Parts: sequence; structure tokens; C-alpha cells
Amino acid sequence: MPFLYRWSKTVQTHLFGPACVLCHGTAPLTHDLCADCQADLPWLDAACHHCALAMPTAATERVCRDCRRRPLAEQALAALHYRAPVDWLITRLKFNARMPHARVLGDLLAERIVASDLDRPDWLVPVPLHARNLRERGFNQAERIARRIAGPLDTPLAVHAVQRGRNTQRQSTLAASARRANVRDAFVCHQDLTGAHVAIVDDVVTTGHTARALAACLRRAGALRVDLYAVARA
Ligand SMILES: [Zn+2]
Ligand SMILES: [Zn+2]
Repeated sequence: MPFLYRWSKTVQTHLFGPACVLCHGTAPLTHDLCADCQADLPWLDAACHHCALAMPTAATERVCRDCRRRPLAEQALAALHYRAPVDWLITRLKFNARMPHARVLGDLLAERIVASDLDRPDWLVPVPLHARNLRERGFNQAERIARRIAGPLDTPLAVHAVQRGRNTQRQSTLAASARRANVRDAFVCHQDLTGAHVAIVDDVVTTGHTARALAACLRRAGALRVDLYAVARA
């Protein structure tokens, strides 16, 4: 009974404030997530500067093996580990269109970026979906998250700068070895980015092949610096 559900949610919000997306307890008016659940999230504290891969806290130089050879981005920041309950929040956003999850995840990422000392980019570039996947899903979760962080960062979105040209298979369906080939040359950039500092925005970075392919495309379009912001890193 989706109507009844929505109606009861509306009444609940008016009477008690928004419900926490995780425990359904009362959440602050601005947040959709209660303070206890926020504190319990798997925050990612020590990670590779160039791809946000988790690294031991004790590591003095935070650059992973892959990035020592070829850095994915100039600076990368992921707010959270891709584990429970973050994987659930992201999966429900993508496949059940739970939009409050995009607000929560976008706000958490924005807080992390604002608190960091990273230089603000000129443009935010959400990882595009292929047109067919966008039609099926009805929205691009990376774009929803990027819209949420554009305000706090005071940075515009370049939504139509890049297209996903070749219809790639969903990365999660492929073996690790096939993933790189699957996304190579998958993106086409239509915007002249000469001299620009851009930041890729994604919900989750897994192997990093998609982000690497997009970064290469943005550099070919002239971007001088490419950063990476992700809600979660596997
Ligand atoms: Zn909660
Ligand atoms: Zn790295």
C-alpha cells in the first residue's frame, strides 16, 4: 500500500520530525539519519590519496601500489567503507529509488569534503549511466548525490559534459580481469575542459576501473586536474 505508507510517513514527519533511514527513530530535521546511527557508520579514515583505497592507519605514505604506478586522481576522498549498512543504503537507492538515501549519503560526503583541506574544483562530474540504464532506472544515483554536494561546495555540476558511449555491461556482473576492458573508451566528453579542475562524483568505487576510464576521458578533454569524490570505497 504505497499510498498509505507515504501518507503515514508524512504524518510521522509532521508530528515527530523525519525518521532515521536506518533505525526509523527520530532524526534531526535536516538529516534523515539519527546521531547514533551516524556515529556507528563505517567511516573511512586512512586511505590512498589518489584512489581512496583503504590503507593501514600506520602507513606513512598513503599511496597504494596501483597509484604509485599511475595515480587514479590527483586527490581522492571517500567518506565510508562499502560495508553494512552503507551497501544497503546504496543498493536501495539504486534499485528501489529510495531518494532519502541520496540525501543522507550526499550530505555525509559533503560534510567530509568541506571538513577536508581539498581545493574546490571548478566542476563536479557525476559518473554518467548509459542512456538505456538511465531510462530503465529513471535517475542517475551519482547525479543525485552530486546535486546534494554542489550547494555546500558552491561548485556547479557538469551533467551533460560526459556521455557513456558504448553500452558497457554492469561492472558487478564481470570478473575483475574483464572489468578494465569493459569500461575502456566507454566515455565521451563533449565539453572543452581546458585548464579546468574537475571532480568525479560516484556512489561507490569498487575496482576503480570506471573512475580511471572517466578520468582519462576528462584529461583528454583538457582537464588539468581530476579529483575523485565517492560516498563509499570497496
Ligand atoms: Zn538511527
Ligand atoms: Zn590508490
